[in-house]
Amino acid sequence: MGALTQHEPLARHTSYGIGGPAEWYVAVDTVADLRRWLAWGRARDLPITLLGHGSNVLVADAGIRGLIIENRVNGIQTSTSGQLRAASGTPLSDLAYWSVSRGLAGLEWAVGIPGTLGGAVVGNAGAFGGYLGDVVQWVTVLEPDGVMRDRPAAECGFGYRTSAFKRGDVAGLILEVELALQPGDPGELWTRVEDYNARRDATQPREPSAGSVFKRTASHPAGWLIEQAGLKGECYGDACISPRHANFIINRGHATAADVRSLIELAQRRVREQFGEDLELEIELLGDW
Ligand SMILES: Cc1cc2nc3c(=O)[nH]c(=O)nc-3n(C[C@H](O)[C@H](O)[C@H](O)COP(=O)(O)OP(=O)(O)OC[C@H]3O[C@@H](n4cnc5c(N)ncnc54)[C@H](O)[C@@H]3O)c2cc1C
Repeated sequence: MGALTQHEPLARHTSYGIGGPAEWYVAVDTVADLRRWLAWGRARDLPITLLGHGSNVLVADAGIRGLIIENRVNGIQTSTSGQLRAASGTPLSDLAYWSVSRGLAGLEWAVGIPGTLGGAVVGNAGAFGGYLGDVVQWVTVLEPDGVMRDRPAAECGFGYRTSAFKRGDVAGLILEVELALQPGDPGELWTRVEDYNARRDATQPREPSAGSVFKRTASHPAGWLIEQAGLKGECYGDACISPRHANFIINRGHATAADVRSLIELAQRRVREQFGEDLELEIELLGDW
């Protein structure tokens, strides 16, 4: 079993480099370990949070109560042509490179996304017109009654940056995901990968972040609205609305979760006043706020 620690700073486990202590923290490499720690937490009545790479969350400065389990259960298997099954802790970008290098099309857009496959299912991750939900066939979920169920994509409720898991319509931990990819021309796939990487390099900030903070609204990209509201480069402490991309809030070094939250609220307020539009969060706030 992985080593259990108390008061582990979650700043070490989020892409923001922000977040207070976990009451209890453990990283797991196998499903058997995951189940053992779940049982350990449940026996003590602890709230349980499964974290992937922490790249779509803002963890409160006060931390998270209960048991935080970091999912490092990693592995990819192929089944019949183009079908592949992967453990939910597999890095999404590893899976994308793995499939492109085998001439399988459908995940090229995911090469620059820093999360796990499980986190990507929860948020229906996507980029450049691709969505994970478009290639998911089945999701194996460990449900609160302790039973593992295979749920077809139709039961996952995928929508723009959301799913039945994110909305809380389906409870449980995603253990494995089956994807259907199509044979593709390897040269074309690599060209797409290079193009997507170049576009990210040209437009996204390099400082720690959680990617896009807000969803686009029905009429505009959130970054455009924030920029038009004159907020590019606005900072609270070490948290800043990126001068490169206004939908990214970056950590220049010692930002707190409260600093980031203040900028979130500032952007929401100004965009509402100026455009009458509500900016909805794409990232998730976790912990004691
Ligand atoms: C630089 C940068 C660029 C990014 N670009 C994109 C982009 O182009 N497109 C995009 O969609 N996102 C993007 N993101 C956001 C993020 O990487 C994705 O949303 C990613 O899929 C999150 O995965 P994660 O493992 O980090 O999830 P986490 O942040 O660890 O978790 C997110 C949520 O999912 C839950 N969760 C995680 N794993 C499981 C599981 N196995 N079972 C049940 N619940 C689970 C967590 O409890 C939490 O509620 C970007 C982030 C960064 C930092």
